[in-house]
Amino acid sequence: MVQLKSPREVETMAAGGKILAATHQVVRGAVRAGATTMDLDKIAEQFIRSHEGATPSFKGLYGFPATICASINEEVVHGIPSVKRVLKEGDIISVDIGVFYGGMHTDAANTWAVGPVDEKTAKLLRVTKQALDAGLAAAVVGNHVGDIGNAIETMVLKGGFAVVRELVGHGVGQMMHEEPQVPNHGKAKRGMKLVHGLTLAIEPMVNAGSANTRTLGDKWTVITVDGSRSAHFEHTIAVLNEGSRVLTR
Ligand code: MG
Repeated sequence: MVQLKSPREVETMAAGGKILAATHQVVRGAVRAGATTMDLDKIAEQFIRSHEGATPSFKGLYGFPATICASINEEVVHGIPSVKRVLKEGDIISVDIGVFYGGMHTDAANTWAVGPVDEKTAKLLRVTKQALDAGLAAAVVGNHVGDIGNAIETMVLKGGFAVVRELVGHGVGQMMHEEPQVPNHGKAKRGMKLVHGLTLAIEPMVNAGSANTRTLGDKWTVITVDGSRSAHFEHTIAVLNEGSRVLTR
């Protein structure tokens, strides 16, 4: 069932989203060669909990053990933070974080470069970010869910990369994952019509090579089958009559 949010609930999500956006900036400041993904996880958890009433959404969700998902290079999403995963110059790291605040979740992800990266990797980050922006721009009242995926995939294909199909964006609010699903590909004017009060996590995952992925034996980490790099950017947005509003910027 799709849960539409009241203006008050949207404001609560905006407040949680502000904490989440700040958490991403704090984590970004700690991304450097020599840092471990566990270092980043600790920093994120401490920062979120320093805000009264705010807790990490992911910790314990479906049994996930940490505050952040930290996915390096060919890891697409859901990497588990570890003291053994040390960042090196030239790596990219995708950091996905959720915040639960005032009874509502918000969800956002960024991919950061660890020092200078090669030109193809830089383009992958640029194109994935542009794809997210295109998806957000399509998330307006009167459009359909398919318009979001169509806008994302069009941007990704133009950039010469591939959209991951096994994983999708989603409704978000009282629950971290609500209906509808928001695929990162699709046909314009298809799928559920977007209405006032809908809150969505839009999150293109884009691979430099093949679109295909598989899950590692840890049951969490999703990687590209061909070892190519993958990027992930995500925002939570409220679809509103007066104009949609990104809640995690
Ligand atoms: Mg999400």
